[in-house]
Amino acid sequence: MQLHAVPAFTDNYVWMLSDDAGAALVVDPGDAAPVQAALDAHGLRLRTILITHHHSDHIGGLAALVSRHQPVVYAPDDARIPGPWRRVVHGDALRIDAPVQQGEVIALPGHTRSHVAYHLAPWLFCGDALFSLGCGRLFEGTADDLLLSMRRVTALPPDTQLCPAHEYTLANAAFAQRVEPDNPALQARWSEARALRARGLPTLPVALHSEQASNPFLRWEAPAVRAWCVHAGHAGTAAACLGALRTAKDAFRA
Ligand code: ZN
Ligand code: FE
Repeated sequence: MQLHAVPAFTDNYVWMLSDDAGAALVVDPGDAAPVQAALDAHGLRLRTILITHHHSDHIGGLAALVSRHQPVVYAPDDARIPGPWRRVVHGDALRIDAPVQQGEVIALPGHTRSHVAYHLAPWLFCGDALFSLGCGRLFEGTADDLLLSMRRVTALPPDTQLCPAHEYTLANAAFAQRVEPDNPALQARWSEARALRARGLPTLPVALHSEQASNPFLRWEAPAVRAWCVHAGHAGTAAACLGALRTAKDAFRA
């Protein structure tokens, strides 16, 4: 299997998996044109589409790609993703025909209420629920949802390769650094990301164990993150701490 990050819009990635027989799967095709160009460039046929959530930068290219390729489409059960798709819920086993893949659906509520991720080991296609060094905005969910979702991610094997839908790593690093100014793993990840972006390369995918050492939204138990939460007036629950982090991130300007 080959994994490609297809850039779309200003900072989206449409993740594409392909096999040696030329069958391709894409995740969250917000725009059809770059996906079609990538299929053509690699001589691939689009057989499967996975949708994580309803936002237009994730489903905008769906109609054009479906009418051209007739792929099998998997999507969460949400009327805002209209179509005759295979609807998925948390815990569903995935058996994808082409490219052949087996995995599991993991609900990650918070960014939207019906957001899901697709775990096709070693990859986790996590949409806008989790980014490198950050997480998605809570448009429809609560701090409790965010904690539930982050716990589901951290329960996965440490070598899981996270494939979020946006290149936000450098912007997120500035806020993470404010929370944990003395975390060497964060500093290492930040300089790695700077070097990759300087060469025009994606900072993704990234290993879960790297994020667990550097992403404040996965580190509610780390002493420095707890200290930040206490200082911010949220000494209580892990959910309150994560909620306070998310609220501070919303207001943060580097
Ligand atoms: Zn979104
Ligand atoms: Fe998005």
